[in-house]
Amino acid sequence: MSETVYLKRLFQAYYKEQKSKIPIVHLHDKREFGFIPWEKPIMIRHIGFNNLDGFLNYLIKNAPRHVYSSGSLYSQPDNSNINNKGYLGCDFNIDIDVDHFDTPCKVDHDLWYCKECGKEGKGLPPKKCPKCKKLRFTHISWICEKCLNIAKEEIIKLINNFLIPDFGYSELNFIIAFSGHRGYHLKVEDDRIRQLSSESRRELVDYLAGHNISFEILGLREYSQNIYGFLKENVGWEQKIILKLEDILTNSTHLEIEHLLIKFGLNKNIIKSFIHSKDDFLETISKNERNLWIIPNFTLKTWKKFLSGIVKEIGAEIDRPVSVDIHRLIRYPGSLHGKTGFNVKELSLNELEIFNPLNESNKNLDPIVFQNKVIQKIEIIECSVPITKIKDELYGPYAQGEIIEVPHNIAIFLLCKEVAKIP
Ligand SMILES: [Zn+2]
Ligand SMILES: [Zn+2]
Repeated sequence: MSETVYLKRLFQAYYKEQKSKIPIVHLHDKREFGFIPWEKPIMIRHIGFNNLDGFLNYLIKNAPRHVYSSGSLYSQPDNSNINNKGYLGCDFNIDIDVDHFDTPCKVDHDLWYCKECGKEGKGLPPKKCPKCKKLRFTHISWICEKCLNIAKEEIIKLINNFLIPDFGYSELNFIIAFSGHRGYHLKVEDDRIRQLSSESRRELVDYLAGHNISFEILGLREYSQNIYGFLKENVGWEQKIILKLEDILTNSTHLEIEHLLIKFGLNKNIIKSFIHSKDDFLETISKNERNLWIIPNFTLKTWKKFLSGIVKEIGAEIDRPVSVDIHRLIRYPGSLHGKTGFNVKELSLNELEIFNPLNESNKNLDPIVFQNKVIQKIEIIECSVPITKIKDELYGPYAQGEIIEVPHNIAIFLLCKEVAKIP
């Protein structure tokens, strides 16, 4: 039996058994659905269902590799002509996927090799091969607790630092889900946000990421050779920057501050001067009355460079097209992710805070749904496979041609990742 037939049967059995546990998305009958089958990597879209049962029966019958529904609402979701779908509005969708940003653990678990000469390395692939200068790579991207935690922190940051204080949303407006692979989805459901154009969504993403902030508009200015900064009492980005500065100046060691300022691109003398004046500066910003910012050697240009670095620390790393494109499809909650075999798990904010996808102790939240009692034999087909840590156990690293015996859930994960086959 081929791997895809085997996995499809497993998915089918899962949907049959767990039918009652698959949640219904709000306004289900107004959503467009999309599926990628096991047989070929093509998205079948423009499908609509009048009720949840129709959808569940489709899952049981076809057991697709990937299952999606639209963030948008349409009066005719199954109409394949975008102009005749009867667009009614779109939720605001945020995708935080560790694949889109560099996490320090990538050098531990990501691998690449050149498709031309076979040169290999750790971490993200380089722009061009250091040996043959060609541009074609195979990138084996893996996951670990560390990077999934970084993605989780980004979602929590977005909710607590932006969506609740700046937009007045409450937990009732958020639908949070583990994506089943490398990150989390956050959906904001609200009638006002549903009516935003793509252009407004782009501006919203800029705001959340801290792109194109004008420090002059926030109040930074030079007057009579003095630099004036801004005050904590002004909400929005001004307040966020001041709070972040207070946090860094209060809780970081000199060495940590030095590393941060090196990352911001500031030179040695300036960093020395900053560390020397940091207590006075902390007092200035905390008092919230004076906004005269005095640090020797800090020009207006230095302040801007420094503040740009701080903004980067505060802003959220959002996958922009997902939030801006109103016709995008999003992975359906409760479905299985065909690249891992994990469940796309919906979570409340409280659940998210303690959620650990690769080692979740709460049975109701555990996204690793396949039982791990049975030991299964599989053969590694990728030239090398990084260590996988699941349920506190380490598996691998493995080399091509190795025949391994692993628990059922690990076998499914490696088969879904397409790095192994059934021998
Ligand atoms: Zn090469
Ligand atoms: Zn990692």
